[in-house]
Amino acid sequence: MKGFGVIKPFEQVGWVQKEKPVLGPCDALLEPVAICPCTSDVHTAYDIPATPNRILGHEAVGRIVEVGREVKDFKVGDVVAVPAVTPKWRTLDIQDSYHQHSGGLFKGMQLSSSEDGCMAEYFKVNDIDMNVAKVPDGVPLEAAVLVGDMMTTGFHGAELGNVGFGDSVCVIGIGPVGLMAVAGCALRGAGKLYAVGSRPVCCELAQEYGATEIIDYKNGPIAEQVLKLNGGRQIDVAIIAGGGTGSIEEAYNMVRPGGTIVNIEVQSDTNGLVIPTYASGFGLAHKTFVGGLCPGGRRRMERLMDMILEGRINPSKMITHKFYGLDACEDAFYLMRDKPKDLIKPIVYF
Ligand code: NDP
Ligand code: ZN
Repeated sequence: MKGFGVIKPFEQVGWVQKEKPVLGPCDALLEPVAICPCTSDVHTAYDIPATPNRILGHEAVGRIVEVGREVKDFKVGDVVAVPAVTPKWRTLDIQDSYHQHSGGLFKGMQLSSSEDGCMAEYFKVNDIDMNVAKVPDGVPLEAAVLVGDMMTTGFHGAELGNVGFGDSVCVIGIGPVGLMAVAGCALRGAGKLYAVGSRPVCCELAQEYGATEIIDYKNGPIAEQVLKLNGGRQIDVAIIAGGGTGSIEEAYNMVRPGGTIVNIEVQSDTNGLVIPTYASGFGLAHKTFVGGLCPGGRRRMERLMDMILEGRINPSKMITHKFYGLDACEDAFYLMRDKPKDLIKPIVYF
């Protein structure tokens, strides 16, 4: 089968030919119905030591074409939302910690990471009964494909910040991940909700999703702008979804003692992450720094799709570019890499 992936880590992406994946008893083989490229695919291609010939893609709605002999709840022909994180659910790590790290750091994320991803004629999902959810009538394809990564990741930012009624929050970076963080914070009752970005399409949608003020990071240090708009007071929570390590320093500068700095961006700067000395109170300011990979699994997908069904959120507004057919994965990937001004998120229909 044909797939689009990393040919040479840090340097080259392209098309690879591989055998169809072999299924275990609880796995299923899917053909893509729609996929989206992710900024993390771009990181996998150019910023981290990926496996050569690894097929990219981990945001998909797929149609099941084959199931392992122990699969109970799904059959050939079912159309399902696939999360980016599809853990092995039978590990002790699950009892110790987060399912995202079942089997080791990041090992809950298999598609495009430790296994081939969905930018291919076929892709395998492990433990299908535990990891995917049927797309209910009433949830559009464009929304279902965004549930498994953009929505779960952005919402996780709001969860990790424990955002509550009236909290003052700043979301730094409002690409699709940050936009879903904005929407998640609004749903959890944030009061002042600052959103940092510059692309007009993103700024407009951030306001629609609940941002109360837009801040352009090109107009000067973000923390100074936030403090000015917030009457000189520091805020409760900052969520980083763009801007790199510089955003960590800005987040420390804007968050109050006892507040929380959440990172959901892939921080790929190999020089290390910098916690600023003064803004962290010499490390004693009771400011919490927490970062996390998105939650996956079937129940998370079902719950998020319930929110779409009940009209609480419409993630499909983020789709700005549409492509058709497997070959178009390449163009969609380059678009995600190059980030033209009118882009939020591309989709590829099969
Ligand atoms: P985008 O590139 O679309 O968005 C980045 C945002 O950051 C844009 O709003 C951009 O503004 C803004 N930005 C750029 N430079 C700065 C700066 N100096 N200061 C402040 N803001 C800045 O990315 P995505 O939304 O697609 O993804 C965001 C991150 O989340 C990526 O690193 C991705 O890999 C990661 N990710 C993490 C996951 C997880 O599980 N935690 C899952 C999925 C993705 P502008 O409007 O100018 O473009
Ligand atoms: Zn992703």
